[in-house]
Amino acid sequence: MDLLEHQGKEFFASYGLPTSPGEVAFSSDEAVAAAERIGYPVVVKAQVHVGGRGKAGGIKLGSDADEVCRHAEAILGLDIRGHVVGRLWIEKAADIAEEYYAGFTLDRSARRHLGMLSAQGGVDIEEVAATAPEAIARIHIDPTEGLTAEACRRWVAEARLNPAVTEQAVDLLSLLYRAYVEGDADLVEVNPLIVTGDGRLHVLDAKVTLDGNATFRHPDYAAYAETVERDEREQEAHARGLQYVGLDGTVGVIANGAGLAMATVDIVDEAGGTPANFLDIGGGANADVMSAALEVVDGDPAVRAIFINIFGGITKGEEVARGIIEALGRVDIASPIILRLDGTNAAEGTEMLRPYLSERLRLAPDMVQAARTAVTAAAAGEGPS
Ligand code: GDP
Ligand code: MN
Repeated sequence: MDLLEHQGKEFFASYGLPTSPGEVAFSSDEAVAAAERIGYPVVVKAQVHVGGRGKAGGIKLGSDADEVCRHAEAILGLDIRGHVVGRLWIEKAADIAEEYYAGFTLDRSARRHLGMLSAQGGVDIEEVAATAPEAIARIHIDPTEGLTAEACRRWVAEARLNPAVTEQAVDLLSLLYRAYVEGDADLVEVNPLIVTGDGRLHVLDAKVTLDGNATFRHPDYAAYAETVERDEREQEAHARGLQYVGLDGTVGVIANGAGLAMATVDIVDEAGGTPANFLDIGGGANADVMSAALEVVDGDPAVRAIFINIFGGITKGEEVARGIIEALGRVDIASPIILRLDGTNAAEGTEMLRPYLSERLRLAPDMVQAARTAVTAAAAGEGPS
């Protein structure tokens, strides 16, 4: 679960990290009212679930009511890489002497937490990472040991921050690590982490991804979830209990098992097509689940063909066939369906399906053939137009 900047700062502040006072605003009037309470100069900041807002014109300094009003009007409604701004964060402007970068995330292959720290933070950090990776000091942290003050001090020295802020940096990074671990975050990033004109380290931006599977430990995270923009298809699918992820292609995918569903998405791509989604219907393939899956996938207006990929293990071929036959009796599906049925009792299932086969429901002998047929059908625009 990705947090908006102001939520990330609230999260950080709850662990004692230094952030600036600010207020949320949804209109230029609210922005000005907030700025009047906070005191000028302020920064008007777009609140969207995407970075690079500064470069896109979503972050502006305002030194009086008139300026704040104009900036708020310009930023509200702005499209930042597909995210339309509907919410602003008005914050007391900081005086910046230096811009650093700091972050923690999990390095799965190393089975350690990974800390990254650089004296060259700010809006060009991606470029720094690409062209001068040595400018980012990395530290691997054993989760059972945690980040010791000693290791943290070495890490700070390696990053070549201004020596005057070393002790502050050690303290701040320890708090940031604590927020990351105790808050069950997958990622915390502060860019820029600034040194102010009077020499204080301060959090100026916040990127936080919380582990959605840990929300049961943090009832207060429910408030964060409300602002997460969800794909309409995903909302519908999740409401029906399906494991669905929306993608932007034209071949709908239904498979049993997460691994097979991922392989199906890959093979559609391999066959030259574009998957419209990932959908794992799990172990059972009864008519209820199959109807729901077909309706959700077919309800996506971009879908031109549906590839059902089933490998029966415990689920037998006859059950799958019965599920599909019953589902097709219940719901009207606009796109042609290409089915690959393999595994336990596939032959029996295939026999049951034979009377129902047509241009609308085709059986493919294997996964590769099924992918090719589905991709060709989608490209030919056989589905709804
Ligand atoms: P991002 O572009 O989405 O990463 O948004 P940031 O919050 O990081 O802001 C981008 C840049 O705007 C920062 O790197 C700063 O240079 C500048 N900026 C943000 N807040 C302030 C502020 O309070 N004072 C000043 N002078 N500049 C700011
Ligand atoms: Mn930033």
